[in-house]
Amino acid sequence: MELEILGSGTSHGIPVIGCDCPVCRSGDSRDNRTRASALFRGDSGESVLVDAGPEFRVQAIRAGLTRLDAVLVTHTHADHVHGFDDLRIFSYERRLPVYASAADIAEIRERFSYAFRPTQEGGGKPRLDLIAVDGPVRVGDLEFIPIPLLHGELPVLGWRCGDIAYLTDASAIPESSFALLEGTKRLVIDALRLRSHPTHFNFRDALAAIERIAPDEAWFTHLCHDFSHEGIMDWLRTNAPGKKIEPVYDGLRISADGRD
Ligand SMILES: [Zn+2]
Ligand SMILES: [Zn+2]
Ligand SMILES: [Zn+2]
Repeated sequence: MELEILGSGTSHGIPVIGCDCPVCRSGDSRDNRTRASALFRGDSGESVLVDAGPEFRVQAIRAGLTRLDAVLVTHTHADHVHGFDDLRIFSYERRLPVYASAADIAEIRERFSYAFRPTQEGGGKPRLDLIAVDGPVRVGDLEFIPIPLLHGELPVLGWRCGDIAYLTDASAIPESSFALLEGTKRLVIDALRLRSHPTHFNFRDALAAIERIAPDEAWFTHLCHDFSHEGIMDWLRTNAPGKKIEPVYDGLRISADGRD
């Protein structure tokens, strides 16, 4: 099983429209960050997407995605669901299951109302089965555990499969969720920037969470343009010496058995 990072950027993406800062003008491909999304691939061919943001089409083509069995939703901020229309390619033969919290399902129904009301034939709408999550989700041989998190005051979900946990868009981990994260070996966690933010972990918050969860390896995601990839690496060398922590980048594959 592996987790592929499809997008590693914060809600604006990097480069930010109209920004000429050094990170937005960087020639390092790792500094080109589409909106946050990830794909779990199982050993039996399972293909499970976490969020479908505005660049889902570009990400799916880049990842060579030919199959999608289910979508797991973290929350319904625009940068995580506004690519839903492009899921239709994966829902022609059978309806595509989408797992989300009950509140997020109501929100998706409203935001994408055209997909859930009868319209003329040939409209090319995504055919989605919205399923409220109330415990682990099984897809093929894979089991996904929803991890309740707080994104400011908003309840959101992280997702864990086996030893890999993907926790984007969070500023707090409820005590009860640490139990669900026990034994995590590879952790991808929100770390927007060094400066604090009301709804996202900053670098130091993320380090504290990593310390507590104690995975073998960890990665920062949902990154903004304050730091380049190399700049974050430098910061980590100084502030978390000897720890296996790095920023993710678009296209990174994290294997359940270690780095590829
Ligand atoms: Zn986000
Ligand atoms: Zn910039
Ligand atoms: Zn968000």
